[in-house]
Amino acid sequence: MKKWISWTAALTAALMLLAPAVQAAEQPETRPAAETAAAEQTAVQAEDWQLLLANPWHVLPEDFQVELKTLPNGLQVDQRIYDDLVDMLADCKAEGLRPLVCSAYRSMEKQTRLYRNKIARLRAAGYTKDAAVTEAGRWVAVPGTSEHQTGLAVDLVAASYQVLDQKQEQTAEQKWLMEHCWEYGFILRYPTEKCEVTGIGYEPWHYRYVGKTTAAALHENGLCLEEYLETLEAVNEQEKSTGTPLRSSSAFFAEMSARVSEEKKI
Ligand SMILES: [Zn+2]
Repeated sequence: MKKWISWTAALTAALMLLAPAVQAAEQPETRPAAETAAAEQTAVQAEDWQLLLANPWHVLPEDFQVELKTLPNGLQVDQRIYDDLVDMLADCKAEGLRPLVCSAYRSMEKQTRLYRNKIARLRAAGYTKDAAVTEAGRWVAVPGTSEHQTGLAVDLVAASYQVLDQKQEQTAEQKWLMEHCWEYGFILRYPTEKCEVTGIGYEPWHYRYVGKTTAAALHENGLCLEEYLETLEAVNEQEKSTGTPLRSSSAFFAEMSARVSEEKKI
């Protein structure tokens, strides 16, 4: 029951982003208009940043800025995700595990440097210029498209195995994180079965904060962030065309998310 409520809250909050007008019509009539508007504004702002999309097709705005907070190891994250991240790591450690944050916020300059270095290494390994650019983009996001630039993403590794490769998924730390991250508002952002949708190869170390309610909805429906946002859009369109509020129906959302996932399969 609790899960269902949080799922409904996630969907409702996210839909407020996409359909503020529809949402406004559904507020209890007894609520003063000014109070309603203020509440909506708060909800929209609270959810908006959590669903920020940065991927090969969504470049961050040039004026993108984020307020950072420094982790004990000196790396920085968006200050709004700090507490949940620290809680998750503390609970992981309480299980006798040793997770480490090995990468967090990156400035545009840092991302550009990493991207250029990757291309240079590929060229040195014999790739043509075009092939190196294409391959580099699969592993290091093109500057402006990296989630690390949002401050909402972290790379987590096991202290006993600090290599960013597929074996990372076999560590006890990753197993724990993959199972529990959604409880703290995080998702494993680039699962192996979603590479074509996310545009990024499998990364069993890259976690993205989307907020607890949204993370629970993604977890429950087996969606990646791109599919989740598309599902919200699809639900919203249905609501508009039918005039029926559907957002509170978890069965309907599951059906729509399955349809979006199916369309994405190549
Ligand atoms: Zn990463």
